[in-house]
Amino acid sequence: MNEKPKKLINTKGLRLDGRKPNELRSVKIDVGILPNADGSAYIEHGKNKILAGAFGPREMHPKHLQQADRMVLRCRYHMAPFSVPERKSPAPSRRENELSKVIRDALLPAVFIENYPRTGVDVFIEVLQADGGTRCASITAASLALADAGIPMRDLVVACAAGKVDNKIALDLMDIEDKIGTADVPVAYMPNLNAITLLQMDGKLSLKEFENAVEIATGGCKQIYEIQKEALKKKYEIIEQEEEVE
Ligand code: ADP
Repeated sequence: MNEKPKKLINTKGLRLDGRKPNELRSVKIDVGILPNADGSAYIEHGKNKILAGAFGPREMHPKHLQQADRMVLRCRYHMAPFSVPERKSPAPSRRENELSKVIRDALLPAVFIENYPRTGVDVFIEVLQADGGTRCASITAASLALADAGIPMRDLVVACAAGKVDNKIALDLMDIEDKIGTADVPVAYMPNLNAITLLQMDGKLSLKEFENAVEIATGGCKQIYEIQKEALKKKYEIIEQEEEVE
């Protein structure tokens, strides 16, 4: 194993990948890339590479899980064995079960579940490569997969974390910053409604630092939201162009 550097922010105030403390990693998103799913999205958030596929709404099976007055939303977050430097067991871990629940809870407030009684919607998330902040990037992609499946939503959900590295509040931590840094605050957010749907904190922060982290994380969410909307529009522009050619 390489020895880990002790300093995460250099004397010029730049992080190990050259970012300023309040700078996002690059984010690229494509929508509708899995023809066999009802809706799908692929995100590259820094070195994270994540696919999300949605199925539904369809009749909920097994039937005893049906809800007479609403849709049931299920999410499965899974990391591929090759997504991290040391082979990860393909079997679902406790962490993956927890993240599946956290991601579902972050998406649920956006979905008009009451419009689809007795149905189920499944979202499958495959992390192909992980580099810190996969729960956030998964939420961003999963909400687009739901929108791409035509499921009515109050807003897109977008997520981003902020944290504390080398005693400074920094936006969008990568894996090494997450591991050596002192705190990580993932935030999921519906920008149009100005509503937070997920707020977690790992590590220690003063109240002021916490408020600062939440503020810059929601700022990061707003930037990713623009990329999300563009990705959704791009898919429909391509369909329009194809129809014109026909
Ligand atoms: P998040 O990915 O949302 O930040 P965690 O804080 O639990 O969630 O994980 C931080 C990072 O640790 C992951 O993004 C990934 O890069 C790394 N990681 C997670 N699980 C493993 C694992 N089994 N082996 C190696 N690295 C892992």
